[in-house]
Amino acid sequence: MNECLAFYQGDFVKENNVNISVRSKAFNYGLACFEGIRAYWHEDSNQLYAFKLKEHYTRFLQSCKVLNIKLPYSVEELCDITIELLKKNNFKSTTYIRPIAFKGSEHIGPTLKDNDDRIVIYCQPLGSYTGKDRLRVAVTSWTRLNDNMLPPRVKATASYLNSALASLEVTSRGYDEAIFLTATGHVCEGPGENIFMVRKGKLITPPPSDNILEGITRELVMQIAREDLGIEVVERSISRTELYAADELFFSGTAMEVTPIIEADDRIVGNGEPGEICKRIKEAFSNLTVGKIEKYKDSCTSVY
Ligand code: PMP
Repeated sequence: MNECLAFYQGDFVKENNVNISVRSKAFNYGLACFEGIRAYWHEDSNQLYAFKLKEHYTRFLQSCKVLNIKLPYSVEELCDITIELLKKNNFKSTTYIRPIAFKGSEHIGPTLKDNDDRIVIYCQPLGSYTGKDRLRVAVTSWTRLNDNMLPPRVKATASYLNSALASLEVTSRGYDEAIFLTATGHVCEGPGENIFMVRKGKLITPPPSDNILEGITRELVMQIAREDLGIEVVERSISRTELYAADELFFSGTAMEVTPIIEADDRIVGNGEPGEICKRIKEAFSNLTVGKIEKYKDSCTSVY
């Protein structure tokens, strides 16, 4: 894997040769932000499609802005660099791309003021994130961060300690993934994915004001449901026990894609099988990510 090429500070270099100091503020204080992007391999057309590149790099630069990280690249330039990187690696399978912007400064002290701002982009083949097609989840005892603490809207590396603690807790107890509640007790999201619930034929998901990351897949799921499947979508707070009353639950995310939840806190969701609405959205998602649906072709950038 480390034989792959990465992009570091303006050059395409062997990932093994990327040399980042142990003194960097990114390593010492987590002063960094990142993105997770997928490029989908489509065997029939012999093509790799980078998915929603523009949306990911727009969110990336928004995260950078909050962290006072100044990169010398526009969204368009970052998209071009990523396509070039994928091409140079000659990937012929679905690939995960991880851009990280960080404070490279080696001075002691957790300041965002220093100017040594850096970027690295690495990538690797990635199939299914969990290796499972349905998940058993549990609410974690760790509370989700809020906007005035460590803003969930920003993909700050430091926020993922909150995610990792939640994952450790629930996976140690045998569950597949955690669900966070907000400080006010509302359902928030997973450690690295947004959550959707189906009740009485409506698709419901927590609003950004409940401290979720504004997921790019979440936005797409809402679009598919509204425009293509004619399902009413509601963004509103969700109470914990609604998870138990739900007809369907599922996660959405770049790594997680669209994955059904069949059990929450030891309660069977619906009839214990992946729900119909989730299945229809998942199917649309898997077709459109490989450029098979005309309406969504703009979201797919051909690499080759
Ligand atoms: N929430 C969190 C905390 C995440 O890390 C992610 C993954 N980026 C998501 C939601 C899903 O966002 P997206 O669909 O943009 O990948």
